[in-house]
Amino acid sequence: MSKEHSPLLENELNEKCGVFGMLSHHTNSSPYTMLGLLSLQHRGQEAAGITSSNGDKLSSHRGKGLVLQVFNEQFDFRNLSGEISIGHTRYGTSGGKEHLQPVAGATEKFALAHNGNIPDTTALEVFLDEKNIPNPDLNDSEMMHASVEYFLKKGAPLEEAIAKASPLFTGAWSLVMMDKEKLVAARDSKGIRPLSIGKGHDGYVFSSETCAFGPLNITHLRDVEPGEMVIVDQNGMRSVELSKGEQRLDVFEFVYFARPDSTLLGKAVDTVRRNMGKRLAQEMANWEKPIEADIVMGVPDSGLSAAYGFRDESGIPHEEGFVKNRYMGRTFINPEENAEGAKNNGRSIISRKENTRSQNVKMKLSALPSVVAGKRVIVIDDSIVRGNTYRTVGEILRDAGAREVHMVVSSPPVYYPDFYGIDTPKQSELFANQHASLKEMCLALSADSLHYLSYEGMIEATGLPEGKLSTSAFSGVYPADIGNRKDEVRKMGARA
Ligand code: 5GP
Ligand code: MG
Repeated sequence: MSKEHSPLLENELNEKCGVFGMLSHHTNSSPYTMLGLLSLQHRGQEAAGITSSNGDKLSSHRGKGLVLQVFNEQFDFRNLSGEISIGHTRYGTSGGKEHLQPVAGATEKFALAHNGNIPDTTALEVFLDEKNIPNPDLNDSEMMHASVEYFLKKGAPLEEAIAKASPLFTGAWSLVMMDKEKLVAARDSKGIRPLSIGKGHDGYVFSSETCAFGPLNITHLRDVEPGEMVIVDQNGMRSVELSKGEQRLDVFEFVYFARPDSTLLGKAVDTVRRNMGKRLAQEMANWEKPIEADIVMGVPDSGLSAAYGFRDESGIPHEEGFVKNRYMGRTFINPEENAEGAKNNGRSIISRKENTRSQNVKMKLSALPSVVAGKRVIVIDDSIVRGNTYRTVGEILRDAGAREVHMVVSSPPVYYPDFYGIDTPKQSELFANQHASLKEMCLALSADSLHYLSYEGMIEATGLPEGKLSTSAFSGVYPADIGNRKDEVRKMGARA
């Protein structure tokens, strides 16, 4: 997603992205792609874009904001007419260049939408330098685009150009691409980020997640395999092996990213999350002093499935004790900074500073005193990254009168930074690294107790062999080469 690491970027939990593409004979595909992006909105809320082809030339529309802000009522889809379109929804960086997608370059002959990240772009930079293609301002996705474009300009057909450039793509990439006649999807040899194939509307569809298929009456055919390139054109669909694939899907897709109504590697995400909750309850029941609690509450939305599983296994009732403001998005406008900004230049400033994070969570979540007052509460969330959510959730629950707050996490501690498309904060900023023991972590969160799902429990809950997953955030094992970024990773002792 991004090459440069500004301090702001490093401090921000960067979102995964969502990609979608469609070739539909006899139908204008871009409105469907917009609806597809809407179903992938959870994968990125800061920018959206669509490129389409009318068979003659490509046209694009991109902007900052949610899908329905970029493609609002004023937007005229006749500006994006044609049978082929691709789209992207992303978590952008603030300030500087915006790096909106799809990337189409100056010539707009070929467009690309990327979910993932190239941790070390040396191979791409060396290649582009050799070819005298200026690249200092390009991010990883733009460099990938420029390298494919180089081979296109040399006269290679689209799939040959992609095949020639793809060895330069060292990292995680689920791509949908197009020229004026073809729609192409491709996935890195480890298949770190998901990408599925669907059929419908007299054509084919690619989507980061299967949750986009149902609402559009599209049938899920199969997934793009790791190392595979799938080409769709007037002659139908065909497949080419770019490299030998070995499936290592990021387990964080199961833990947090994917929508519960998606399936990944044949497993329903909601079922896996419920299994994680069940497994947690089993692990906790085996302790010498099991926790006694009156109610279980999942932190909406991504903690809910695990909380239902926990309820079923433990017999402790689940209560919807949180009210979530669903209109927040994931940014927060700091009133003080905005007042400053208004004073300075009349423009508002979106702040993502540490001291606004807790306020951000409070704007998003409240607790119902009628549910929690006087209760011993087990509160389940999917993960702890920096610890902001739990720290604040604890405060919110106590303010609403909870008697005890037991924090139960449906994944193991996150010890390692991500390089495959999320850009979690620096390793030193990860909550689990800032505290020497579980006891210290518990104290830091002012919790009555704190429990993590075991690593083995997480793997077993997926119903998949560990070897099919990338568990880098938890284990520090990076299945796709991270190149010079290795220096940023400090090995932790136990993976408790
Ligand atoms: P924390 O508040 O501990 O920094 O982050 C954990 C919380 O953020 C959890 O509630 C989890 O649902 C959510 N989360 C986990 N990973 C990500 C991510 O990559 N991006 C965003 N925006 N939230 C995340
Ligand atoms: Mg959450």
